[in-house]
Amino acid sequence: MKKVLVTSRSFGKTSPKPFEVLEAAGIEYTLMGADFDQEKFKEVIHEYDALIIGAHPFYPEDMQRCKNLKIIAKHGAGLDNIYLDDAKKLGIRVTNVPAMNANAVADLAFAHILNISRGISITNERVHKGEWKTFIGKDVFEKTLGLIGFGAIAKNVARRAKGFSMQVLVYDPFITEVPEEFKDFVTLADLDTVTEESDIISIHVPLTDSTKYLFNKERIMKMKKEAYLVNTGRGGIIHEQDLYECMKNGHLGGCAVDVTEQEPIEKDSPLLELENFVVTAHIGMYSMEAINAVSVVCAENVAKMLNGEEPRFIIV
Ligand code: NAD
Repeated sequence: MKKVLVTSRSFGKTSPKPFEVLEAAGIEYTLMGADFDQEKFKEVIHEYDALIIGAHPFYPEDMQRCKNLKIIAKHGAGLDNIYLDDAKKLGIRVTNVPAMNANAVADLAFAHILNISRGISITNERVHKGEWKTFIGKDVFEKTLGLIGFGAIAKNVARRAKGFSMQVLVYDPFITEVPEEFKDFVTLADLDTVTEESDIISIHVPLTDSTKYLFNKERIMKMKKEAYLVNTGRGGIIHEQDLYECMKNGHLGGCAVDVTEQEPIEKDSPLLELENFVVTAHIGMYSMEAINAVSVVCAENVAKMLNGEEPRFIIV
């Protein structure tokens, strides 16, 4: 019997359908997501024919020992934890599930935008501590939103921004023309213009050599003093020590992130001292709808690959 190891925490969490797909294809599954341990993963992965992977790294030296492994199916879109060149050399297929979580992540990004602008979680925390105090926030309505990247998630954020009559500036060097749907409220601009002119910046790029520490001290200091910075992309795009130093000195109205350089964020991260730094635990794709859709595609891809068919969304 063919075997798949599942290291994603959320695979199949919201419906039995993904398990039914694997069972119908005669594939045995082992769930390792809930209490994932990188050392244990290293020890057992070579026994499997397929892997449905979460966010942890899969190092080339471990891949090399996997003689049976046919497919690494990423439970999500971001591929920065997988060594694609090594997988390709070893003849292991890598797939992901693009765009299916794009509404869930866009909702979260917009929730962070509204929350940081109006101090919802800050006030909530104060009220829980018995402090009934006014918080004067900022309107999101008619503000300028800067989007870094204009892929599936950023486009959905732009669609939400339209409902708030926002002007949207986009920095994405791989896009040469704004699609028709967005023409009356989205403008392409260079990175400095987006940085300097936006009231809120929301990051939606993958972590690559060109986006690593894109928001370092120099760039953050170019943002408006009262602007808000939101990152639901990847940790490592914002330089956290630089961010702390800027915010500690009163630069930025606030920052909200779903992703951090280390996950979980270190308990002693100085950012956690700042009331206007809001962090969620990498929950972007965790909506009932998104998890189910992503899990079903991963299960189908594994079933197809192990039964000699082409999976969907092949990366290498
Ligand atoms: P996508 O591939 O549709 O869009 C990414 C966009 O970034 C593309 O338009 C690309 O041209 C642009 N881009 C690439 N490099 C760039 C650069 N150096 N500067 C500016 N733009 C650049 O991806 P998506 O589905 O919109 O997802 C975006 C990112 O969100 C993913 O790569 C992933 O890291 C992250 N993500 C996070 C969560 C979460 O749970 N918080 C969930 C899913 C995805």
